[in-house]
Amino acid sequence: MSDQSHPEAWQRELKRSFTRVEDLLTHLELDPHRLALAADTSRDFPLLVPRGFVARMEKGNPQDPLLLQVLPLQAENERAPGFFRDPLGERAAVRGTGLLRKYRGRWLVLTTGACAVHCRYCFRRHFAYERFSLHRREFDEAIASLRRDPDPGEVILSGGDPLMLEDDWLAEILGRMGELPGVRRIRLHTRLPIVLPERITPRLCRLLAAGTRPKVLVVQANHPREISPAVRGGLAALRQPGITLLNQSVLLRSVNDSSATLAALSEALIEADVLPYYLHQLDPVEGAAHFAVPDERARTLMGELRACLPGYLVPRLVREVAGADCKVPLA
Ligand SMILES: *Cc1c(COP(=O)(O)O)cnc(C)c1O
Ligand code: SF4
Repeated sequence: MSDQSHPEAWQRELKRSFTRVEDLLTHLELDPHRLALAADTSRDFPLLVPRGFVARMEKGNPQDPLLLQVLPLQAENERAPGFFRDPLGERAAVRGTGLLRKYRGRWLVLTTGACAVHCRYCFRRHFAYERFSLHRREFDEAIASLRRDPDPGEVILSGGDPLMLEDDWLAEILGRMGELPGVRRIRLHTRLPIVLPERITPRLCRLLAAGTRPKVLVVQANHPREISPAVRGGLAALRQPGITLLNQSVLLRSVNDSSATLAALSEALIEADVLPYYLHQLDPVEGAAHFAVPDERARTLMGELRACLPGYLVPRLVREVAGADCKVPLA
């Protein structure tokens, strides 16, 4: 049990995260005057990056692929045609507190608006998560909605990041949802095992392993250097009780838009017992246009990957299309 006065080690680590651009740049020995930084990002979607993730960045390199994922640049303030605040029309899919029915056979549960890192390309950067997240006081109601569905299939805990929840609350959600008739699996979409491996405690592994329904954990690493020894350790602990581990990446200009980088990522993942699942084309969210990679280039990269990797290490290139009941494959 943790509370404000007795935070767990991972919560203390999270509190030590960088939240000021100046501090991050000083730490990385970068001159802020030589970077085109965003003037004011502090209100909407401020810098947030744990120290352990920063430790994997190369000092003195303004083009570091890990840094580019988290550093608010001037380019974010530029408007680009075809990029919107709610590109996926998520508001239209809201069914009740915390529940989204976007895909057949799968319920999406927005467990929290919080993340341990603020990824500048994130499609939910403008989404009013807190307003739609699952709250304790409405938990019974959410369970009742799932119970009314004769065939709920898979429950996907998303957010934000579901591993930001405290253990007891997460255990309660997993426990009650895992007992519902017709729930075959529980899946979690989380970036914490990558950006804050301290979160993977023995207690978390035990509570994820509890219950009879299979668990699938989908992490998000975009570059091979994100898979540090500490990350590998956490992933190994998750694999031990039999949790299936998959990875999804976002294809990002200047971060991972080369077949050598993507191939190295797949190799680093399988070494950590994680299978590459999706490579997402960027969602056209306002402020992220500078990360976009043209479809033609993305298809070329996939061809190069197929030529050098075994099939099971080639992720599926997909795009999410508003209103579609599955991801659209591009190659
Ligand atoms: C795509 C997506 C899903 C469902 O994806 P699958 O195709 O079933 O893997 C769930 N949650 C989020 C956030 C997604 O983007
Ligand atoms: S961790 Fe996931 S939800 Fe959170 S900002 Fe990054 S991409 Fe978005």
